[in-house]
Amino acid sequence: MDNLSTMARQPLLRTPLILIVTLTLWSSGVARSEEISVAPGSLVRWPGERIEKCSIGDRSWEPLAGECWFPIDLLTLEGPLEVARWRRGEREKTILQVASYPYEVQRITLQDDSQVNLSVEDLERVRRENQKIAGLWGLESPRQFRFPLAPPLDPLPTGGRFGSRRFFNDQPRSPHSGADFAADSGTPVLATATGTVALSGDFFFSGKSVFLDHGDGLISMYFHLSGIAVEQGDSVDRGEILGLVGATGRATGPHLHFGVRWHRARIDPQLLLAPTDQIRAVPSL
Ligand SMILES: [Zn+2]
Repeated sequence: MDNLSTMARQPLLRTPLILIVTLTLWSSGVARSEEISVAPGSLVRWPGERIEKCSIGDRSWEPLAGECWFPIDLLTLEGPLEVARWRRGEREKTILQVASYPYEVQRITLQDDSQVNLSVEDLERVRRENQKIAGLWGLESPRQFRFPLAPPLDPLPTGGRFGSRRFFNDQPRSPHSGADFAADSGTPVLATATGTVALSGDFFFSGKSVFLDHGDGLISMYFHLSGIAVEQGDSVDRGEILGLVGATGRATGPHLHFGVRWHRARIDPQLLLAPTDQIRAVPSL
């Protein structure tokens, strides 16, 4: 969901990583505290030996490649966030400091005002669609992905604008929860990982859309397609064609909106496409 003419005038890639690691040494030199500042919508990993489980609040999951990975939802409020891991049956915790929301403001003008000020019928349609979509976040199936994920376009153009605060026709709307990649209409859109088509169809805002379930709570999304090549329930392989780039739904030009949710958290999908050693790690003390 983006305005491509606005995109062209502004920096294309806004990396939301403003992760600042601060280590505080206490005077004894023995007891140490750490404070890791993380941006909402980012990702942190906590390496360690023999990790059995990772958790935030009441949600827990298995380690991935031996490490705990913590997705920080885009709308997480500023302040401390406790995360934990289990090793040899013992719970260890650390505190992440969630920084204030750092993203840019984007103003988008849509000629079709009915896509900004919705009719009663459209509001009802969006409510029904959102309900259906929200049902995906709780899916629990075995993990079928590996990091980094495969790019959804090949080659992947520069893109992004994850998290931008948006004003459509001067009215504030939800922040942008995916990354936009401008591409020609008809460009093949590829599965970022092996998975199952959890939902597909034509939605009010996202147009023709495909939602893939990759297991372990990871859902990837592909919006504004001109055509869909898969059906709900299909198994797809990493790199398989899901559909074609288009401009359906609330879009002003052909582009792919690519988004992910992991353990319900909206995070910048570009972080999952990057080499894993680029993801900020909790320092070992
Ligand atoms: Zn978008």
